Parts: sequence; structure tokens; C-alpha cells
Amino acid sequence: MYLLDRLGQVLPPDQISTQIDQLNIVSQDESTLPGVVPKAVVWARNTDQIAEVVRAAVETKTPLTTRGAGSALEGSAIPLPDGIVLDLSRMTDILNLWPDDLQVEVEPGIIYDHLNNKLKNEGLFFPPSPGGSGDIATVGGMVSTNASGIYSVKYGGTRDYLLALEIVTGTGEIIKLGNRAVKRSSGYNLVDLIAGSEGTLGIISKITLRLAGLPEGRHQSAFVFTDNVSAAKAVSEMMRYGLDIAAIEFLDRELTVALNKLKGYGLTEAPMLFLEFHGPQPVLESNSELATSICEELSAQPLVLTDGQRPWEIRHWATDAIKHYLPGKSILRNDVAFPISQSPDMVAYCHELGQKGNIPMFTFGHVGMGLLHALMLADPNNSVEWGRAHEINNQIIEKTISLGGTISGEHGIGLGHKDLFAKEHGPAVELMRQIKRQFDPHGILNPGKIFDL
Ligand SMILES: Cc1cc2nc3c(=O)[nH]c(=O)nc-3n(C[C@H](O)[C@H](O)[C@H](O)COP(=O)(O)OP(=O)(O)OC[C@H]3O[C@@H](n4cnc5c(N)ncnc54)[C@H](O)[C@@H]3O)c2cc1C
Repeated sequence: MYLLDRLGQVLPPDQISTQIDQLNIVSQDESTLPGVVPKAVVWARNTDQIAEVVRAAVETKTPLTTRGAGSALEGSAIPLPDGIVLDLSRMTDILNLWPDDLQVEVEPGIIYDHLNNKLKNEGLFFPPSPGGSGDIATVGGMVSTNASGIYSVKYGGTRDYLLALEIVTGTGEIIKLGNRAVKRSSGYNLVDLIAGSEGTLGIISKITLRLAGLPEGRHQSAFVFTDNVSAAKAVSEMMRYGLDIAAIEFLDRELTVALNKLKGYGLTEAPMLFLEFHGPQPVLESNSELATSICEELSAQPLVLTDGQRPWEIRHWATDAIKHYLPGKSILRNDVAFPISQSPDMVAYCHELGQKGNIPMFTFGHVGMGLLHALMLADPNNSVEWGRAHEINNQIIEKTISLGGTISGEHGIGLGHKDLFAKEHGPAVELMRQIKRQFDPHGILNPGKIFDL
């Protein structure tokens, strides 16, 4: 086959595979969307190899899907049947570390937790912390989905840490975007444009990040509420008071039931908030006191975890707990984001829809940013039930858009939410198409993701 011959000219044999077990691995991501087996998977080790692979794809008109760890949740890493997967998980080096500037340059395949383990020695960290996937997600994948996480309420998401990128465009051209200046007013911000572009504009081959200093102290607390809406209300109250919170995670009652079932935690089955504060001791104390009084005013009780139970470990298992809660059912998800004051109404709305449609509903997320994950369970082989869950999902998304929110706070659009994308962006989608054509005139970079050309 011409494509394989061409790839064989640019890569050594141990960096190309057409073996079915390897193809099966890269056929899927962590969404519940069906996988698609590509023609081949290739592993690049440096920028020049990425550029050569892109040129081979252009010559053979082959769609190319870049892959980090495949932990994406909306199908953005699922390849096309006549396509190839360009896997960057072997590009894991830290290229430069500038501790005095709080900056680092890395290859895209480095795993989030591995990077932070190395940065710890310098008293630094890259904060976004993508929840349950920090131990697998690559930094390149995080840039491409503009990932965020539990600490984003204080520190921001991935985009907020990007200084410079090296990308390979859809013609195989290698371009540097941005620089190491932490503030600039120098032309269009193409670095920000690449963040969240899900591999459709360019392949990220090098990333320069700004970093944060590790906090002087940390304090964690947790509260149990009588109902979901009071818990969501406490969050918007805390944000209104301008409380300096590093993390504030909401778990609804239904999720605590699922967590107990999966992990036997013996948690009180009620809505919860997990909080973390960062800073010197007096700041920790005053913030934590204010948070406690807000929660108590809403009739919450402090949650006492048993020895060895840690809030973030419990939170880590959220998606898995839902996944395994009802055998035979699959997850249908969204990750909507809206103005924070809408959180109580949105949590109530999701549960109301779930109850009416008889679809188990779980809500949780980084609510301090107005970011809510509403996960439903339904049987994909029961077209009526699956269709009903889809309808509920669409209603949640449409309500979010009507409140001035977004379809995706952090997971991206991929294939999962493509159909409603124009509802959020209107005529701007056409502008996005035109931008894509400038970066990728042959339409080979992850085609069909986010929107159709
Ligand atoms: C249990 C669990 C919990 C999660 N929690 C969170 C969370 O809290 N917050 C959050 O934001 N996400 C979360 N995610 C989603 C996921 O981990 C993130 O989207 C992550 O950033 C994807 O990284 P990855 O390396 O797996 O990328 P992949 O899944 O491999 O790819 C994601 C997208 O980026 C593109 N891409 C990857 N690398 C590159 C590159 N170098 N250049 C160009 N394009 C590229 C791919 O083509 C694809 O479109 C979670 C996932 C799981 C399974």
C-alpha cells in the first residue's frame, strides 16, 4: 500500500504498526462512542518526524488523528477508518526548565503527574490537575482540549499557562507561536487559538508553560448537605464573598451512593462539597472559617472522613463509580459551564429531567467555575431509553446555552457534541471553518471533529 510505503520511508519500522491489537488500542478514547479502527498507528519521536508524517498524509490524502493518552471524553481522539493515528506518547522529555522564571518547556507526550513530580523538586507545579486523569493525560492532550481540573478555580485552566508552542501545520510546516514573555500585546494570540482546537489546526510538538509555586500550606475540609440545591447554593455564596478557594468540588447524593457501591467508602449518602485552601496558616484559617459559616447557614454538617480516606482520592473514582453502577448501562455525559449563580437551578433542572425521563442522573464537578458534569446512565441497546437520555442531554445543553453558558467547560466538542455546536456559536462557526482552512488546507488534521468542513 502506497501510504505504508511512504510512512516506511520516513519512520523506522518500530515506529509504525498495522497490528490489529495496536490498532484496537488507538481506535477509542474514554468516551462511550464506538471506536474506529484506523489503517495504521505511527509513533513520532521528534518534530521532524511529525512533519514528515504530515507530508506523507498530505501526499496520500490520509486523515491524521493525533493521540496523547486517548483519555478524551468526547471522541476527539477517535480516528477515521481510512486514517492514521499519530501517537506522541513517546515524546516525553522536559526540554528546558527555568525555575527562576517559573517556566518549563516540554515535549507533548509527557504525562501531567510525571511533569509535576519532577517540578516538585523546584517547589513548582503546573496546576490544572485534570481530576481523575492526571495520571494518564499528556500535556499535549491537555493543551488540545484546554483541560482544567480541581485547582482551576484558583489557578485557571491549561490555556492560562501557555507561553509558547511549536506546531506542525496541515502542510507539514513547523511554526513557533508565542515566546517566553509573560505579558505581550504583539499581534494575534495564536497560542490561545491552538488551545482547545482538538488536533484540528496543528500538531503540537513543543510546549512552553508558565508554572506556579507550590503553596506554603494546604487545608482541606468537606461538608454534607441535606439537598443538592443547598450544596450548589453554598458554592455560589462562597464565590460571591470572594473566598480564596483552591478547589471546591460538588458531589451529588446519587454519586455518593455509587461511590459507596464501588469502593465501600461508607460515606453518608448525601450531597457533599470537598474544599481545599492554599496559603499561609492565618489565611487558611480565615478562609476555612468563612466557608464553614456559609455551609452551616445552609444547614450543612462537617463531613468527618475515616482514617485513610482522602477527599481527592474519593473524587478520583467519580466517573468509574457511575460507569459500574448499573450493569448493562452506558454513560451519556456533558460538561456544561454557565454563570456560577445558575448552579443551584442547573443542578435542580438536571435531576428534574432525569426523574421525569426515568434516567439515573449524577451531577458533580468543578462548581467554583460554574462547571457541572451531568452524567446519565442508559442502555445503548434500548433505542427508546438511549434516545430519551440523548434528549435530556440536549435539553441540559440548550438550557445552558440559553443562560449564556457553553456546551463544554473542559472536555471539548469532539464528535459527542458536534450537533449542537452551531447553537452556541452561530455564524462564528463559518469563521472557524475559514481559520481551519488556513492551518490545514488539505483537511487532513482530525477531520470531522468539533464541526464538519
Ligand atoms: C477519569 C477521567 C477523568 C477526567 N477528568 C478530567 C478533568 O477533570 N478535566 C478535564 O479537562 N478533562 C478530564 N478528562 C478528560 C481528559 O483526560 C483530558 O481531555 C485530557 O486533557 C486529554 O489528554 P490525552 O493526552 O489523553 O489526549 P487525547 O485523548 O489523546 O487527545 C485529546 C484531543 O487532543 C488531540 N491531541 C492530543 N495530543 C495532541 C498534540 N500533541 N497536538 C495536537 N493535538 C493533540 C487529539 O487529537 C484529541 O483531539 C478526564 C478523563 C477521564 C478518563
